[in-house]
Amino acid sequence: MEKTGLLLTCEHGGNDVPEDYSQYFQDMDELLNSHRGYDIGALHMAQSLSSMLRCPLVSTTVTRLLVDCNRSLHRKTLFSRVTRHLDEAQKKDILEKYYFPYRNEATGWVQALIREHGRVVHLSVHSFTPVINGRKRKTDVGILYDPKRPWEYKPGKELQEKLKKATGLRVWRNYPFRGWPDGLVAAFRKMYPDNRYTGIELEMNQQLYIDNNRSWGPLPEEVAACIKTC
Ligand SMILES: [Zn+2]
Repeated sequence: MEKTGLLLTCEHGGNDVPEDYSQYFQDMDELLNSHRGYDIGALHMAQSLSSMLRCPLVSTTVTRLLVDCNRSLHRKTLFSRVTRHLDEAQKKDILEKYYFPYRNEATGWVQALIREHGRVVHLSVHSFTPVINGRKRKTDVGILYDPKRPWEYKPGKELQEKLKKATGLRVWRNYPFRGWPDGLVAAFRKMYPDNRYTGIELEMNQQLYIDNNRSWGPLPEEVAACIKTC
């Protein structure tokens, strides 16, 4: 992957609430600090990978509860239950300040890397909650991609196999989420053909980060090493 242009993004990197909108987040610390506020550990992973692989990283630390940079404009979940009721002028303001700059920066990098290298591999870094609706998730790491796109299927499968071997962790493909529904990666797939754009989402179980046990410590390095050889 390294030989082509590599781009990292982190759509759910933090749980910051901009001053202008703090009034809507009073007494919501618990929600903001949960997986609903941000992807715990994802920014750490993305920053580590960016410095080890020496590739650009586009990230935001504004909470997804304000606006979700990993959703298209038409999606109901673009705004959360906290911001959904805001008036149109406020929503427009949020989009202009916190959504479009992020999406445009990522798009700019994709275009630049395709121009320079002919194609780009985009790795979107996320994390997921270990338990959802009382059910425990069965994997430590998820590699998400669109199996209909050969330029994603091959490196996605390869990355899963290598990571599984290198870490001894449970690494699944297109679990706990499927790789093709709406998101930043899916938006780029609509813009660029398979041979120009490869989009893969890396999903880590937040338990690895919360425990700060053996699994997380060397994980960024192990992921970087596997990416280099895919
Ligand atoms: Zn996420």
